[in-house]
Amino acid sequence: MKTIKVSVVTPDGPVYESDVEMVIAKAQSGELGILPGHISMVAPLQIGAVRLKKEGKTELVAVSGGLLEVRPDQVTILAQAAELATEIDVDRALRAKERAEQRLHTQKQDHVDFRRAELALQRAINRLSVTERKL
Ligand code: ATP
Repeated sequence: MKTIKVSVVTPDGPVYESDVEMVIAKAQSGELGILPGHISMVAPLQIGAVRLKKEGKTELVAVSGGLLEVRPDQVTILAQAAELATEIDVDRALRAKERAEQRLHTQKQDHVDFRRAELALQRAINRLSVTERKL
């Protein structure tokens, strides 16, 4: 089966690098499925899971938004943070979720902090979903 090279990169370094059969990512415009030979494009990503299909298995990487760059033989995902399911600290994500929920309840007046808390909540829920494979 044909494959495409995928790299997931953050400011801390590479998180994932492999040849896969398909990449599924949540762009801001909707879900994208990328196969080898896909036309070149760049798309902003949502906070979400990137699914990497290889030899009948699907690996999940939690990404906190970022950019997806597609070339016919290579997909690059640049994100501020990204974790493989096995690297996610569930307790930390649960604590982050609780903190964000509390802020959303108490800081409704302040628009900037409210948006920050919403994004923190989305990141935490995304990490928990990736560990539970509920997607
Ligand atoms: P927290 O409030 O727990 O720091 P956060 O969503 O604000 O969560 P980020 O700013 O997205 O955290 O990430 C900061 C760094 O910590 C990144 O390197 C990210 O990969 C890592 N990280 C954040 N949460 C977790 C987690 N639950 N498990 C493993 N790594 C995490």
